[in-house]
Amino acid sequence: MSYYITTFCYGNKYEHVLSKWISNINNSCKNSIINIFNNVNILHNSYFLPNYPGYIWAIRFKHNLDLLMKINIPIVMCDLDVIIKKDIEPIINLPFDIIISKEIGEENAYPKECSSKLGFGVCCGFMVIKPNINTKKIMMQIFKNMYSKVYKTYDDQVNIMNYIVNNTYNITDQEVFLDGIKYTNKIIEIDGIKICVLDFNIIVRDPILNINQFANHINIDNVGGTQNFLKYFDEDLESLPLTCRCGKAHLGDNTICKHIDLRKNYRDNK
Ligand SMILES: [Zn+2]
Repeated sequence: MSYYITTFCYGNKYEHVLSKWISNINNSCKNSIINIFNNVNILHNSYFLPNYPGYIWAIRFKHNLDLLMKINIPIVMCDLDVIIKKDIEPIINLPFDIIISKEIGEENAYPKECSSKLGFGVCCGFMVIKPNINTKKIMMQIFKNMYSKVYKTYDDQVNIMNYIVNNTYNITDQEVFLDGIKYTNKIIEIDGIKICVLDFNIIVRDPILNINQFANHINIDNVGGTQNFLKYFDEDLESLPLTCRCGKAHLGDNTICKHIDLRKNYRDNK
């Protein structure tokens, strides 16, 4: 079954990545229809204040919401810094209304005031939305919360996390095999829909090792900018510099990196 894969492209840093991102998806995801959003005026004349926190994420969210209301196939919101490694269709076929990647940091994941309650966080960098009535209703509700500034930011990730923790929900673990590997997803039942939060090893944020993941989510600034980032599309992850932010004082992290040893030990035991 075909599906849309959308991304929002704004700013010099990302425009350099766009053509690579497109050709990579065309090579790996056979039933995808790519849709690039670059209109930054979509919220013009609406209730949104351009200088309010998270404005850029509100633009991304509105584009996808408009598309959701028009079409009848799944939408995958996928950031330009998410590098797809193999066909994501098995993820889209999972029987859930929203399927979303897991944020790094478990109970400390951004935003912490929500992840401390759930024990984990979701990441809007990769999110599948199925076009059914209940999902559309909930996406509309989240959008209303955004423009009403209920959570003091338009940031969609903060709004989705708050939507979950401020409603009645039930969470269960569910094991699933994808491409022969066993994963444990979190299933959140809320407002008549099921949200699947993917095992961290399916879409890996700040990846260290090749573990047959479906995608790597790499912060461009963590690896020193666009030119370095582009290497992660084609070259072997384990031969490239680490993508973590450890020890990068300019990114606000002064911890010492544990990942160097982790990668070395894994290689030695391979
Ligand atoms: Zn590290």
